[in-house]
Amino acid sequence: MSEAALELAILPGDGIGMEITKPCVELVQMALQKAGEPKAVENWLEAGAGAYTKLGNALPAETIAGCRQADAVLLAAMGDPDVRYPDGTEIIPQVDLRFELDLYAGVRPVRSVPGIKGPLADPRGDKLDFVLIRESTEGLFASVGKGTRDEEQATDTQVITRKGTARVCEFAFKLAQQRKAHGHAGEVTSVDKANVFQSMAFWRDVFDDVATGYEDITKRYGYVDAVALEMVRRPWIYDVMVTENMYGDILSDLAAGLIGGLGMAPSADIGDEHAVFQPCHGSAPDIAGSGKANPTAMFLSGAMMLEWLALDKENANYHRAAVFLRSAVDDAFSDGTLVSTERGGDAGVAEITKAVGSALSALSNNDPRLA
Ligand code: NAD
Repeated sequence: MSEAALELAILPGDGIGMEITKPCVELVQMALQKAGEPKAVENWLEAGAGAYTKLGNALPAETIAGCRQADAVLLAAMGDPDVRYPDGTEIIPQVDLRFELDLYAGVRPVRSVPGIKGPLADPRGDKLDFVLIRESTEGLFASVGKGTRDEEQATDTQVITRKGTARVCEFAFKLAQQRKAHGHAGEVTSVDKANVFQSMAFWRDVFDDVATGYEDITKRYGYVDAVALEMVRRPWIYDVMVTENMYGDILSDLAAGLIGGLGMAPSADIGDEHAVFQPCHGSAPDIAGSGKANPTAMFLSGAMMLEWLALDKENANYHRAAVFLRSAVDDAFSDGTLVSTERGGDAGVAEITKAVGSALSALSNNDPRLA
């Protein structure tokens, strides 16, 4: 057991954010205690469209300071299509935070949860386990707040730097090594458009430079349009993919569709000093307040947070807490009777939280998945 309790910055944000954050934090606390750790200290912070409307600032300085000070940040979702800056763009503090904390590796695991049937007819589509790494500090998103527009034309400029590309490719190759140690293929695919754009040919050159330091890992290439096709045709061919910010944004939603929808897809934004964990989806204003949201992506993001803390703090109990939470999600869905509303069933936040909570309570300290 660690001496000090963890300190978590918690940003529920907008829309379904608060509905899914409260049960997630409760389950994270239960998992920590089950693993023999004290409860984490919770620092709930304001950010999002609601904060912008109320305070005139979508990402207040106290929130940024709270995130910097925390051991990890748990974020739900932000944004409201009706709340916009004068230039017509939406407020996107969840993206601003990536720049602020230099969170360059967007980690999007694509793992099938047992009992959730994917949309593909081939049974291999129900057993996916690959990871999409999205560069998160530059690419086309370097243009956020800097685009130009007049009556006749608008421009947004893509920026690819050697430093930004090299560090995210290093992250991808290291992850492939860790996965290879657990039986995965040991491959990294660069997803780019090196046949058309200077910026992408440059990206691929940097990818190649990084690859020379990882002789045990196979490097592969895919043009983003062809990869979109293969992700539908035979997604099981992938191990780790690394890509530019905008391509990653689009492909990670496609990937979420392969494992049962946005409500099943967790993610992490990781830098050298800080890390933020949040589901892939947005604030879902169309179902906010109805109780219909699927909180599973949020729970799995909580498990990713505990896994990252285990490495960062070198504490095996946090790894145990992560396995408890992830296994509880698997067990809750495994017999196929718990079906979320997004998949045509009637289980929303309350039902799914109850099922995952019961599964977590039932898990034994001798569960083989803890090994
Ligand atoms: P969205 O992800 O919020 O919703 C897309 C669709 O998926 C909607 O029909 C929604 O009901 C459904 N959905 C999403 N999450 C769900 C869940 N957990 N359970 C069940 N159904 C779920 O994307 P959008 O509608 O394009 O955007 C809505 C708002 O969210 C916008 O303001 C947008 O800017 C913002 N946004 C924020 C983030 C983020 O915070 N990381 C990401 C994407 C969009």
